[in-house]
Amino acid sequence: MSLMLAQISRKVLRATSVRCAASQWRLVRNASTEPSPAEQPAEFYDIIIAGGGMVGTTLACSLGKNPRLADRRILLLEAAAGFKPPTGQSYSNRVSAISKGTHRLMKTIGAWSHIEATNRVKPVLKMQVWDACSDALITFNYDDMAENISWIVENDVLLASVYRQLEGLDKVQIRYSSKVEECSLIRDGAAMSTVRLANGERLSCELLIGADGYNSLVRKAMAVDNFTLAYNQMGVVATLKLGPGAANNVTAWQRFLPSGPIALLPLSDDMSSLVWSTSVTEAKQLLQLNEPSFVAAVNEAFNKTYPRNNIIDDVTKNITSLISSTTGQKLEPAPAIEAVIENSRAAFPLGLGHTSTYVGQGVCLIGDAAHRVHPLAGQGVNLGFGDVQCLTDTLADANYSGLGLNNLSQLVRYEQERLKHNVPVLLTTHGLQQLYTTDFAPIVGLRSVGLTITNALPPLKKFLMNYAMS
Ligand SMILES: Cc1cc2nc3c(=O)[nH]c(=O)nc-3n(C[C@H](O)[C@H](O)[C@H](O)COP(=O)(O)OP(=O)(O)OC[C@H]3O[C@@H](n4cnc5c(N)ncnc54)[C@H](O)[C@@H]3O)c2cc1C
Repeated sequence: MSLMLAQISRKVLRATSVRCAASQWRLVRNASTEPSPAEQPAEFYDIIIAGGGMVGTTLACSLGKNPRLADRRILLLEAAAGFKPPTGQSYSNRVSAISKGTHRLMKTIGAWSHIEATNRVKPVLKMQVWDACSDALITFNYDDMAENISWIVENDVLLASVYRQLEGLDKVQIRYSSKVEECSLIRDGAAMSTVRLANGERLSCELLIGADGYNSLVRKAMAVDNFTLAYNQMGVVATLKLGPGAANNVTAWQRFLPSGPIALLPLSDDMSSLVWSTSVTEAKQLLQLNEPSFVAAVNEAFNKTYPRNNIIDDVTKNITSLISSTTGQKLEPAPAIEAVIENSRAAFPLGLGHTSTYVGQGVCLIGDAAHRVHPLAGQGVNLGFGDVQCLTDTLADANYSGLGLNNLSQLVRYEQERLKHNVPVLLTTHGLQQLYTTDFAPIVGLRSVGLTITNALPPLKKFLMNYAMS
C-alpha cells in the first residue's frame, strides 16, 4: 500500500514539474520559435548521477540492475566526450588493486566475467612490504589468506566491463559531454534537485548523486565542510617490462622510501605497473628522465641501501632472526626492471579529503567526491565501490518500502554505514603515510618494531589484511 501511494505521489510530482516547466516554456515560445536548452522544460529522472568515472558508472549499473528499483529511471552525466574501451595488447598506466568486496560487487552486477574474459586481470597471491631505513618487512601469502589477496585490473578494463553490463539496460541513460555546471538542491526551497549542464540544458531529479571526483561540484553545492590535505607528493605511474627470471609474477611489492612508497603491481607474467609516490620535485624529474635512466632509477629505488641506525638494526635483526627461524620469512628482492613502456609515464597529485557529511535532502556523495586517500594502501576506489554497494541497498530498501529516494533518514543510514568503514581506513592510510615519510630514527625504530612484530603474528596479519581488503 505504502509503495503504491509513493508511486502515485511520485507520478504527481513528476507531472506537476513537467507541467509547470511546460507552461513556462509555452510563454517563452510565444516570443521565440527556437527555444534555447535553458528555456526548455527540465526533463525529469528519478536519479541523476553526476560523474561517470569508475564509481559513478558502477553505481548506475548496480542501481539499474536492482529489481527493487525497477520502476526508476537513472541518468548518468559525464563531462568527458566519451569512453574508448581498451584495444590491442598495450596496458594502460592506470590500474587498481581490487579488494574482495569489489570483486563481489563486480560479480553481482555481472561485470566480473567480462573482466576475466579480457585476460587482463592478475590475481595477487603474495605481497611484500618493507622499510628502506631498516630490515623490517611484512609479507602476506596466498596460504595465509586461503584466497587471493587482491586482483590487479586496469581502470579502463574495469570500466569497459561495467559498460557492457549497461548495454540493454533501458532505464539507465548515459550522456557524455555533459558537464554539470550548476546544481539547485531541494533544500534551496525547490521540490526537486535540478542540474544545469554546460549547454544550458536543465534536468531535474528526486535524488542527485555526486560521483564527480575529489573536486566535486555537487559537494560544493551542498555547502558542507570538506577537510583536505595536500601531501605535496605525486604518484608517478608507468608500465614496466620485467627482466628475465621474473616468471610467475604474482607478487605485489611495496618499499617505503623516506620520500614515499614505491610499488610494483603484477599485470602479466612479465609486465608490472608502477606507482611511485614521491615529492613533487622528484616526480617531475622522473618524468623528464630518458627511458634507460628512468629504469635505472626504479631499480635503484627498490635496491638502494639507505643510511641505517645501528640500534634499530640490532633490534629488528633480533626480532627478524627469531621470526625467520620460526616462519622462514626473509626479504626477497623485487624483480629487476628491464624497460619502461613508451609514453606510459604520468604523475598525479596526491591528497587526503573527507567531507563532513555525505548526504542531504535529495542529494548524496559517493567515491572520491566524499573521501580521498593516498594510494599507498590501494584503497581509494575500493572505498568508492563499498559506497556503491551500500547506497544501492539503502535506496532499494527505501524504494521498496515506499519511503522515496530522497528520504533523509534513509540516506543518513547510508552515511553512517559508510563512515564506519571509510574513516578508519582514511585515518590508517594517513597515519602510515606520515609514519613512513621520515627517516627520523625514533620513528623508524617504532615503525620497524611494529611491522616486524605484526609480521610475526599471523592472526593479527590476517585480521588487518581481511579488514583492508574486505
Ligand atoms: C596513482 C594512483 C593510484 C591509485 N591506485 C589505486 C588502487 O590501486 N586501488 C584503489 O582502490 N584506488 C586507487 N587509486 C584511487 C582511485 O583511482 C580513485 O579513488 C578513483 O579513481 C575515484 O573514482 P571516482 O569515480 O570516485 O572519481 P573520478 O575517477 O575522479 O571520476 C569522476 C568523474 O566525474 C567526471 N566529472 C567531474 N566533474 C563533473 C561534472 N561537473 N559534471 C559531469 N561529470 C563530471 C569526471 O570527468 C570523471 O569521469 C589510485 C589513485 C592514484 C592517483
